[in-house]
Amino acid sequence: MIEMQGVTKKYPNGVTALSGIDVTIKQGEFVYIVGPSGAGKSTFIKLIYREEKPTDGQVVVGGINTANLKQRSVPTLRRQVGVVFQDFKLLPLLNVYENVAFALEVIEEEPKVIRKRVMEVLDLVGLKHKARMLPTELSGGEQQRVAIARSIVNNPKVVIADEPTGNLDPDTSWDIMSLFETINERGTTIVMATHNKEIVNTIRRRVIAIENGRIARDEQRGDYGYEA
Ligand code: ADP
Ligand code: ADP
Repeated sequence: MIEMQGVTKKYPNGVTALSGIDVTIKQGEFVYIVGPSGAGKSTFIKLIYREEKPTDGQVVVGGINTANLKQRSVPTLRRQVGVVFQDFKLLPLLNVYENVAFALEVIEEEPKVIRKRVMEVLDLVGLKHKARMLPTELSGGEQQRVAIARSIVNNPKVVIADEPTGNLDPDTSWDIMSLFETINERGTTIVMATHNKEIVNTIRRRVIAIENGRIARDEQRGDYGYEA
């Protein structure tokens, strides 16, 4: 599903965020990306949804090589990749329904299909009854549920999450994690950068640790491995 070969990312300011990354993530895997601040986790995530391009090497996502992707083909890649952020990034002037529908409207899906699909995913995240509310009227956990609904509404093969529980209290974080588990059980690949030691050490999955821009560990059912 995701293949990186000899990937190096050097930012224009001269910082080398990643170097010599070789990794394969298969369809259906659930992978945590851990490591100290500044290690390169966000950069790793950004390469997958092509927010950044590698300076060297190959990043192939669902058969699409992101490095030589034409600008007009970026939407094709983004349709395979749902993204969830720490700070939710919902559109503040749109209600819950509209935030989720937006992704389908831009690809000009039929209105009937949009309505059905949006209500299905809102049901999945437990927010059907709040479809008409604005993001500011929701708790943090609810806003993250909306963001997760948005990320899966067009049935992507992979969901990328950068610190999705970083702004949430512990109880809410566990709820959000069970949602990610449900999505993963349905076959969607999950790649999640996180600092949440409790979660990584409890919901055991593959752990890729990045330190100084390199893969320091890659273990099935790994542990967090750092002090929280
Ligand atoms: P992490 O997510 O593990 O904290 P990042 O991928 O955000 O790590 O950052 C890795 C390194 O790249 C850090 O030294 C950071 O300062 C640098 N960096 C990240 N984004 C940029 C950018 N847009 N421009 C320049 N340097 C950046
Ligand atoms: P059902 O199981 O009857 O489809 P659910 O309410 O459980 O209904 O699911 C609602 C919708 O969410 C379904 O259309 C399903 O395809 C979608 N869905 C659930 N998990 C995922 C996923 N991992 N990726 C994409 N879509 C998903």
